[in-house]
Amino acid sequence: GREDVHVGLLVLGAGPGGYTAAFRAADLGLEVMVVDARDTLGGVCLNVGCIPSKALLHAAKVIAETKEMSEHGLKFTAPEIDLGALRSWKDGVVGRLVGGLAGLAKQRKVTTVQGHGRFVSAHRVEVTTTDGTTTVVGFDQAIVAAGSEPVRLPFVPHDDPRVLDSTSALELSDIPDRLLVLGGGIIGLEMATVYAELGSKITVVELMDQIIPGADKDLVKPLAQHIGKRYDDVLLSTKVTDVTADDDGLTVSFEGEKAPATATFDAVLVAVGRRPNGAALGLDAAGVAVDDRGFVPVDAQMRTNAAHVFAIGDIVGQPMLAHKAVHEGKVAAEVAAGQKSAFDARVIPSVAYTDPEVAWVGVTENEAKARGLSYGTGTFPWAASGRSLSLGRSEGSTKVLFDTETDRIIGAGIVGPSAGDLIAEAALAIEMGADAADIGLTIHPHPTLSETIGMAAEAFEGTLTDLY
Ligand code: FAD
Repeated sequence: GREDVHVGLLVLGAGPGGYTAAFRAADLGLEVMVVDARDTLGGVCLNVGCIPSKALLHAAKVIAETKEMSEHGLKFTAPEIDLGALRSWKDGVVGRLVGGLAGLAKQRKVTTVQGHGRFVSAHRVEVTTTDGTTTVVGFDQAIVAAGSEPVRLPFVPHDDPRVLDSTSALELSDIPDRLLVLGGGIIGLEMATVYAELGSKITVVELMDQIIPGADKDLVKPLAQHIGKRYDDVLLSTKVTDVTADDDGLTVSFEGEKAPATATFDAVLVAVGRRPNGAALGLDAAGVAVDDRGFVPVDAQMRTNAAHVFAIGDIVGQPMLAHKAVHEGKVAAEVAAGQKSAFDARVIPSVAYTDPEVAWVGVTENEAKARGLSYGTGTFPWAASGRSLSLGRSEGSTKVLFDTETDRIIGAGIVGPSAGDLIAEAALAIEMGADAADIGLTIHPHPTLSETIGMAAEAFEGTLTDLY
């Protein structure tokens, strides 16, 4: 077959995994081309994921804090929301970041190509640009970083503009009066946090018996209580069986003990998970195995079954998180450049940037029980933290799990404002093999929320003194 250009390393997909791999490989001397269907680098995370959601969550937090302080002597009037300006600010944040990536690619002489890529043989990808022209790119090695997309449900009229996914919800085209969030996981609850503060009446429906099913129940409880007071309804152990669109709205049928048979909403956000893009890339033409769910199996070097093709990020499996993709991207690039690297992270932290935030890393208590581990916990309630109280909040909690034989930390869960930033210390402690004394004897600055991690370790050791 014909080959229009040839590169040393082709990276398919320019999300956190893809751009990290491309930059690292270029730094190590490889000749790199990145292909992405989008006009901009950054993939889902920068364009329609992590970053725009965090910008809008910041806006939501500002509104929430004015309400909280209105009860404590600082009265604010309700915000005047200029949706267009808010949207532009969010788009500006994304624009700065993806523009920055374009600059970094150029500096490194990484070629970026806009187009849809498809493997046509073991060493060739056909790239089709928006205007329909195709280019065949030959490569010595390739890294597949094509990510994932939102799961669609067969009984939901996804073409109706009132049916949202995370991408359209982040566009912020309007604020529906009654919004159903279908799926009580991280993405659904983050978007609920945004829309609730912007004025929507929120109902959340979740199939499992708790929101954020991956986290321990005690950890999720303060969030459940916080939103329980603010949202119209949180329907747990409830299945949505039908969504019908008509002029009055979207009528949703539920199956669940506490759920109404039907209810009508002005918009429905479907956030029931993401599926990998592995089935849509022609990987069979390259001899690369894809499992029946669309994931691409890899080894610790991030190699697929075809030794010259690597895969990283959401497309290789759970957890579908940007920081995992970044680290995998580095490994794939280093191995492609001939280095002896491997992905051997002990733990990958998870964070829900809700209000309050929920973050966990390593073994959860549910998991420790299921695996029959001999573990103990140290817990520190934030009601005893002066810093937490001075933020006007007291519902947070820090729980650390230790191996009772070695006293080493094996997991941690934090709920409260800034939990996502705080969990990093626990991740480092686990990677370093720290024990409870290491953490408890580390002097944390006062008054900070970080002290709660030291205090949780002391609680486990039975040496806890008072805080405030
Ligand atoms: P992706 O970012 O998925 O990028 C893949 C790229 O490949 C896309 O740009 C796509 O256009 C391109 N592509 C796919 N197929 C082709 C093809 N055939 N040809 C050319 N290009 C193709 N993670 C976090 O860690 N923290 C968060 O706070 C967070 N928030 C999120 C919020 C939302 C609303 C969503 C949806 C996700 C969030 N995530 C978050 C998850 C995070 O976005 C992903 O884990 C991450 O983007 C995965 O990176 P990746 O490198 O695998 O690829």
